[in-house]
Amino acid sequence: METIKAPRGTRDVLGGESWKWARVMDVTASTADDFGFREIMLPIFEHTELFSRGIGDTTDVVEKEMYTFTDRGGRSVTLRPELTASIMRSYLEHDMRRGPQPVKLWGWGPMFRYERPQKGRYRQFAQIDFETLGVPGPMADIEIIDLSMEIYRRLGLSNLQVVLNSVGCPKCRPAYREVLKKYFASGFDSLCDTCKSRFDRNPLRILDCKNDACRQITESAPAVTDSLCDECGAHFKAVMRGLENLGADIKLDNRLVRGLDYYTKTAYEILSGDLGAQNAVCGGGRYDNLAESIGGPHVPGVGFASGIERIVITMEAQGAYMGKEPAPFIYVVTSGGGAENEAVSLAHDLRSRGVSADLDFMGRSMKAQMKTASQANARFVCILGEDEISAGTVTVKDMSAGTQETAPRAAAIEKIEKNVSRKEELR
Ligand SMILES: [Zn+2]
Ligand SMILES: [Zn+2]
Repeated sequence: METIKAPRGTRDVLGGESWKWARVMDVTASTADDFGFREIMLPIFEHTELFSRGIGDTTDVVEKEMYTFTDRGGRSVTLRPELTASIMRSYLEHDMRRGPQPVKLWGWGPMFRYERPQKGRYRQFAQIDFETLGVPGPMADIEIIDLSMEIYRRLGLSNLQVVLNSVGCPKCRPAYREVLKKYFASGFDSLCDTCKSRFDRNPLRILDCKNDACRQITESAPAVTDSLCDECGAHFKAVMRGLENLGADIKLDNRLVRGLDYYTKTAYEILSGDLGAQNAVCGGGRYDNLAESIGGPHVPGVGFASGIERIVITMEAQGAYMGKEPAPFIYVVTSGGGAENEAVSLAHDLRSRGVSADLDFMGRSMKAQMKTASQANARFVCILGEDEISAGTVTVKDMSAGTQETAPRAAAIEKIEKNVSRKEELR
């Protein structure tokens, strides 16, 4: 029988990598605290309507990429392709409008999109996601962008650029659509098939097309910022000024429209030159009409999402500090011959004092055990030979200094425990 492999577009994050993810999550969680965001945990699947109405049914995500299926009760459900719609659904469902505004929430976990897998892009991928709900003003946009930059700064990333645009609002966007349609009409025959079909339904999305021919045409397309209404124009300027005030390196890009229909006003991405073609490490913006499109009242919101795989790839490419690969502080080595119980008991006592300890289960030779201890990068080895067992002592070997010392069991444990408080410097 052929062995079963993971489905195409999915991957296992193995022990050699998962600790890097743990660092990303630690930094994300502490930055969230510092900015006053609360974590929420949401279902992995939702009613399909949440996304088809929320994200928009002319988007690539909804048209081509969703994992949608009918469950055994005959309902259409979809594995979430993103988190914003779910967070808004939760805000509405739990009537968070009643409390003080804004409501600042964050979440993370796997998302699912049926895309062509490539470097840094998977069909199941993990994102962190932050949303500020309930306030319309530019301060929330500035804080969200600042927050995303702060997470990357704390993760040691450099060379990042904020790319900023406005996509207008339902008041000014129809006029811009007409301007765009007039512009694209002349080059219509050169557009790709997808863009031809977008021409009537959603010409803004043509700006976003990665097809070479389309990109050539969109290069000199009229800028949305020339069509903004007074309110959107003032909002855009305020966000720009706010970011400049924080010293952010921003670049304006009129073609940045983001792939989701719910965006209004601010749209932004943070790009890293170290990611290749898929160079956005994060994307987000304002979505003042999302709540209404999923059947709620008017609730303004702004947020961003960032792929954890992309963050880790960028950190690796830039040689950022990833934290330390976990290693046992102590490896317990025995000379065999009935010492297993002693070894298990010593490991138990160390672990109960918060000292990480590991040991051999295979009854291998002392030499083999020492080799494993060294490969595991253990800081100290506790040797339980025949002499130690009969005398009730433990020999503690300092693996980096090469020195060793024999002491009564209790005294040895106490000394190790003291060293643990200096664990970081001892590594
Ligand atoms: Zn507007
Ligand atoms: Zn195209």
